[in-house]
Amino acid sequence: MILRTLFIFVLLLLPFPDLAPGPSCEVGGKESSSGMFYTLGDFGKAPKFDIHIHINTPQEYFMAVSRKDNFRFLDIVDDRPFGVPMKEQQRLAIIHLKANPNLMRFATTFPVDDWNQPHWVDSTIARLSRSFEAGAKAVKIWKNIGMDLRDSSGTFIMVDNPRIDTVLQFLEKRKIPLIGHNGEPRDCWLPLDKMTFNQGYYSAHPEYHMYLHPEYPSYEDQIRARDHMLEKHPALQFMGAHLGSLEWSLEELAKRLEAFPNMRVDLTRIPNLKLHTLKNRDYTRQFFIKYQDRLIYGTDNAINTTEAPDELKKAVHEKWERDWEFFTTDNRINLPEYGNLYGLKLPREVVDKIYLKNALAFLGWTDSESGK
Ligand SMILES: [Zn+2]
Repeated sequence: MILRTLFIFVLLLLPFPDLAPGPSCEVGGKESSSGMFYTLGDFGKAPKFDIHIHINTPQEYFMAVSRKDNFRFLDIVDDRPFGVPMKEQQRLAIIHLKANPNLMRFATTFPVDDWNQPHWVDSTIARLSRSFEAGAKAVKIWKNIGMDLRDSSGTFIMVDNPRIDTVLQFLEKRKIPLIGHNGEPRDCWLPLDKMTFNQGYYSAHPEYHMYLHPEYPSYEDQIRARDHMLEKHPALQFMGAHLGSLEWSLEELAKRLEAFPNMRVDLTRIPNLKLHTLKNRDYTRQFFIKYQDRLIYGTDNAINTTEAPDELKKAVHEKWERDWEFFTTDNRINLPEYGNLYGLKLPREVVDKIYLKNALAFLGWTDSESGK
């Protein structure tokens, strides 16, 4: 009896092998890549996809590093009021697509500067049709809807506006997926001392710090409008950019993934994911395993014209490799200002989904080429 109790006690002490941060995996870098887990050394070999890239240049350096690191990617055109204008972003996307058809796809968008004209719906659908003919495989809807655009009486236009429904019905019918950047990180509506990662940005840009502008729609207004839009369009294939703007709570994100079966999110808020891991690694890891079909790797890298191509390639490569280390190994990783955490070491089949299969399925990219 004593022996049996002792045996159970010892069993309880044993770490659950998949969940506990084990020793550093550095030796694993040389391991065979045929096991249950990838290693750091598999980074270059595994075919991967970055679902959130902005190409703002005719230069091809980014394509070179993508090929070398075995990444395909989605170039996202959006309606930013700064930098390279939307039309030019799209012109560049089409040129790059023609030169690199096995490496990339692009997502188009639409302007709203003529929103208050009666023809807006028709002209938007006509514009989108032309973009699909030119090769666009997805549509991006940006945060200017919800945070900037107003009707002629000055009321904010939210993403669940009935005029947008007509455009979304058109996308559903054409089976074109939608990428939604709706709202901002919750930090934007919090005082500086309550923010997780964005104190620097919002203290430099008080004009974008919504905590200081209570006359604008609230964080909850943004999330509610996005959820309402998805309720009205259950057949729409949707990807919420930046963890669906629910980066601060995996519980809140899980509620939406349960409620909307055609919703996915991209993982372009890696510091938040590291913070979740630091606070509760088991919970975060189980979240990834449970929603492995709904999470898509991406960086939100903006690729600008450069005089220093080697630096650009190095920065892109190092970010990709750091993220791979976080998802595939249990190495100790430092999150500045917070502390150390252990990588998630997700099972290989989960990594294959978040790093490739989910992106290809979302974009309807059916060939099996590795993109080389
Ligand atoms: Zn972006």
